[in-house]
Amino acid sequence: MNSRRPTRQVTLGDKQHGIIRIGDDAPVSVQTMTAGYTYEIDRCVAEINRLAAAGADIVRVAVPERKDTEALAKILPQVRVPIVADVHFHFQRALEAVEAGVHKIRLNPGNISDRGQVEKVIDACKERSLPIRIGVNEGSIIERKDKQKRMRELGEVFSDSQHARLLAIMIAKLEEYLDIFYERDFFDIVISAKSPDPTLCIEAYTEISKRFDHPLHLGVTHAGPRETGAIRSVAPLSHLLASGIGDTVRISYASDPALEVEDALELLYCLELRERKGVDLIACPTCGRIQVDLFTLVQDVRKSLAEHIELPIKVAVMGCIVYGPGEAEGADVAIFAGDRRGIIYVQGEKVANVPEEDILAALLDECQKFQARVRNGEAKLGEKVVDIIPPDPIGELGSGVEKIATGNVEKVTKLTISGQ
Ligand code: SF4
Repeated sequence: MNSRRPTRQVTLGDKQHGIIRIGDDAPVSVQTMTAGYTYEIDRCVAEINRLAAAGADIVRVAVPERKDTEALAKILPQVRVPIVADVHFHFQRALEAVEAGVHKIRLNPGNISDRGQVEKVIDACKERSLPIRIGVNEGSIIERKDKQKRMRELGEVFSDSQHARLLAIMIAKLEEYLDIFYERDFFDIVISAKSPDPTLCIEAYTEISKRFDHPLHLGVTHAGPRETGAIRSVAPLSHLLASGIGDTVRISYASDPALEVEDALELLYCLELRERKGVDLIACPTCGRIQVDLFTLVQDVRKSLAEHIELPIKVAVMGCIVYGPGEAEGADVAIFAGDRRGIIYVQGEKVANVPEEDILAALLDECQKFQARVRNGEAKLGEKVVDIIPPDPIGELGSGVEKIATGNVEKVTKLTISGQ
């Protein structure tokens, strides 16, 4: 993976809400946005706190009306995460949000028609050292005087791209926006260039990263429900992040925003851009060898371990012993299912053999014991490569026990063993 692109860095937050840095050597942060109305103060506070508990580093709230910015003053003392006010059309909302004490403003200069109004927001943020995120999108309209000339120039630069015209518009618009900020000596800027088109996102962010040194807020806008939006979002974001591009991430689903946080964090963990918190769970997809209800078991294990285990223990849940040991290589704790049973290994050592109904409790127990040993310095995460001698499929895993009794043993034992 490429190293992170060097950028300027912005800082937001305070002692009460935590301080988050964006850009350069700061960890890639995860943000999301509340789905409810900001003016419904209690609900908004509950939602922000729930999203922060899910792992959001930054939470954005919409402030379309005066009652929303008025609510901010009451919301801010009740939450413990930096808050961004999302402003469209009404520059006054941005000034009110700054006055209420928010930590960052999200502004689309393109939908605030008066340049003087944008300048007032810049000055207010500058006075309080608040960063501003500015976004361009493919729908932006260019107003600069030399727009024909600049569009021609950029059009030639991007002539090989299927998105040539859109890229030219986005870059030209961004140049136009940034000039307003630079003229006021304001550089605490984060840039976004979202689109629902994943390939355009890749190209736009890549081009922007070559031209500007501001931190980038990555996202695919209007990605849809999680079921389809996850792939639509993660495909371009993975590409960009793995190329060293991107400093803060928001995945946008038409679903519970806590899911956005969960998936964004998992993406960063998988790319080793953030230190994992909690269990690293792998599980087999199951196949015709399966002998327990693995789908239910995996979901139960995921929920239970998320609740009780803080360390990044690698846990493998495998449906059988045929390929399970190989597939679980490197796991700290592994369970291999047999015929309505499960055998549990901790760093290669067999520690339990339990019936299916006890697997969840036994696995949690072993993970908790292992976590305690790691904390006491008696074991290390990932210390031992799992080298498991597969259990005996007839006796230990229960396979064939009934069939042995009826004299029909071949199908179970020999087929299973020959599959190794
Ligand atoms: S571990 Fe066993 S049950 Fe799971 S996919 Fe692999 S072979 Fe199939």
